[in-house]
Amino acid sequence: MNLIIMGPPGAGKGTQSRRLGEHLAVPVISTGEMLRDEIKRKTTLGAQAKRHMDKGELIPDSLMIGVIEERLKRSDCARGFILDGFPRTVAQADALHKMLGENGSSLEHAVSLAVPNDELLKRLSGRRTCRDCGAMYHIIFDPPTNAGLCNKCNGELYQRDDDYEDIISSRLEVYESQTSPLLDYYRGHRQLLEVDGIGGRDDVLARILKRLGISQS
Ligand code: AMP
Repeated sequence: MNLIIMGPPGAGKGTQSRRLGEHLAVPVISTGEMLRDEIKRKTTLGAQAKRHMDKGELIPDSLMIGVIEERLKRSDCARGFILDGFPRTVAQADALHKMLGENGSSLEHAVSLAVPNDELLKRLSGRRTCRDCGAMYHIIFDPPTNAGLCNKCNGELYQRDDDYEDIISSRLEVYESQTSPLLDYYRGHRQLLEVDGIGGRDDVLARILKRLGISQS
């Protein structure tokens, strides 16, 4: 199954994509994580991406489309994939449609997680991410067992540079202006599944699986 998980920053795309990926046994392709990894490895792409990410802006379409095109060619995507954070613009959605079509493939669904802005702000400003495995926590709603350390791999938890309040507002504005038009785009293609993203992780996952018509066992 080829899926997109969409939604504003903080809607739970990363968390739900990972869980859905485990459930469906398909790879999760997170463009945000790929870019953060490029930054960590100090590559040219990482340096270009950082300039935009630090301001809460999107990376140019031409760069992002190239990255995804390469990634989708890898053999692990043959049985399906979940895209977390791509596409984020109509140009990216068009490019994805074309890429898949050229391989005789297509997208099954675009799952959009809906969460109001005040809740997104609370979630993002308290979010902590593991430097090593990317697992996410919240200092109040979902703290790790040992402060500052990941439950899964004991890696160091940090606050992403773009999870500070001034950058969060820019990211929310960018979502409204550049990414939310994709809701109409996928609605028009009859691929959009809108899911309430409020509530616990298990509840949200159960809602997504139900909309996808997949049994939870
Ligand atoms: P995320 O981890 O999905 O919240 O992404 C973090 C940041 O990476 C975003 O705010 C953008 O700066 C950049 N980014 C991730 N995916 C894309 C994309 N598809 N197009 C452009 N920029 C992206």
